[in-house]
Amino acid sequence: MIPPLRLVSEAAELAAHRHNGMARKGRGNEPYINHLAEVANLLATATDGADAELVAAGWLHDTIEDTDTTREELARRFSERVASLVVECTDDMSLPKAERRRLQVLDAPKKSAGAKLIKIADKISNTGARIQTDPSAGEREELADYIGWATQVVAGCRGDNAWLDEKFDDAVKAAKALL
Ligand code: ZN
Repeated sequence: MIPPLRLVSEAAELAAHRHNGMARKGRGNEPYINHLAEVANLLATATDGADAELVAAGWLHDTIEDTDTTREELARRFSERVASLVVECTDDMSLPKAERRRLQVLDAPKKSAGAKLIKIADKISNTGARIQTDPSAGEREELADYIGWATQVVAGCRGDNAWLDEKFDDAVKAAKALL
């Protein structure tokens, strides 16, 4: 077993390398790694640092979906649980966006407890990234669409961690104030 601090540190480093040069959605061209740091830190805080594999999976949650990282590599470098948490958070990118969104809502209640927390943290971070001062009509429309969908996904994930649930509700409230 890899000591917890090394596990998290190596996950952060691998994520930084694999997502190098990628930008997240939203204004400001923020590096993608900011999203991963946010998700990992939400998970660390929500669990008070008690679950290093969960935090590592937070850093890595988009590596299979967005980079050439495989499940096997994550299992070998980290652990079987880290690999399976990331797989649970990976969409089938061969499907059209509407179908991927529909499946996320449908599949959310069937996920493991850890994957549910990652999904909520992901939606908190992505909602936050869409909250900007003085949004254009297009940005408002995108935000309304995103929070409508994210709320459905989170409905299938919530109930295990009151702090994380509340953070999501706060993000939605802040988003709705702009609409
Ligand atoms: Zn993500």
